[in-house]
Amino acid sequence: MLQDKNPSKTDLSQLGEFGLIETLTKDFLIKNSSTIKGVGDDAAVLSYKNKQTLVSTDLLVEGIHFDLAYFPLKHLGYKSAVVNFSDIYAMNGQTTQLLTGLAVSNRFPLEAIEEIYEGIKLACKIYDVDLVGGDTTSSRSGLILAPTALGQIAKGKEVYRSGAKPNDLIVVTGDLGAAYTGLLVLQREHETFKANPQHQPDLSPYAYVVERQLKPEARKDIIKILNELDIIPTAMIDISDGLSSEVLHITKQSNVGAHIYADKIPIDPQTVLTAEEFNISELTAALNGGEDYELLFTISQKDYEKIQYRKEFAVIGHITDDPGAYLITQDNQKVALKAQGWNALKK
Ligand SMILES: [Mg+2]
Repeated sequence: MLQDKNPSKTDLSQLGEFGLIETLTKDFLIKNSSTIKGVGDDAAVLSYKNKQTLVSTDLLVEGIHFDLAYFPLKHLGYKSAVVNFSDIYAMNGQTTQLLTGLAVSNRFPLEAIEEIYEGIKLACKIYDVDLVGGDTTSSRSGLILAPTALGQIAKGKEVYRSGAKPNDLIVVTGDLGAAYTGLLVLQREHETFKANPQHQPDLSPYAYVVERQLKPEARKDIIKILNELDIIPTAMIDISDGLSSEVLHITKQSNVGAHIYADKIPIDPQTVLTAEEFNISELTAALNGGEDYELLFTISQKDYEKIQYRKEFAVIGHITDDPGAYLITQDNQKVALKAQGWNALKK
């Protein structure tokens, strides 16, 4: 996990807006040739030459998407960037630039904002993304992060949610449900801490699930692998709200149905144990938990042999002619998928 460092405190009013921007962005490096001009003028200048531009934005609001009681600021910065990168990968594209909007209350000193930017910087470094602009302003109440990611995609290689065809295979990357069970652990530890501030939480048995919640990764690697395998998915989406919700987006927009097999859904053993501890089914965590930022896509059957031995992928079902998306349980029951999303589960 990322380390926080926060000894001293500097009031933001001491710096002024331009001083703040300079302090925050001074050691971000430009890596992409499509970035002609980054931070430091009225606007960034970007040139994708013959490629198409992808743009996506995803807000993170204190109290809705995160709770600072258990969310370290550096992780928050990292996550805010990565979840936006994920949306560009979900189009089969390459993420190249990031703009960061930030609204903070004056209870945050400079060092707190620097922590957030440390996380953003790390994400940009790992994913080869250039920070090319943004804005910081004050907020009367909570902290709001509003990043925008930009990317590029060659004409004809873009993948929409709407392209799935009957008999296509449904594929998911990595494993699901961990981020949600990690959230349950963090919330429980926070409640325990409130009741007893002397309490020292031992999160080591939950290291994987907690990391999936606090420091998710976007699947840039998968886009590279698909390209190397010469596979263009027929439809694709990233898993931000849970498998059910994302499958339904694809079936609705592609005008098809789907069968998903419960025993094929990849779930980490630590997710299973943690879910058991909280008396929920690990399947519920995978279907409705969300925030895993894995990719869900459909491929034509002719591409199956290209992926069948790859450990990154799990074939979890197939697209059907009939409308309706169903989970086929281990005892062969057919259950209609519902888009619950993680918000509904939080309550
Ligand atoms: Mg998305």
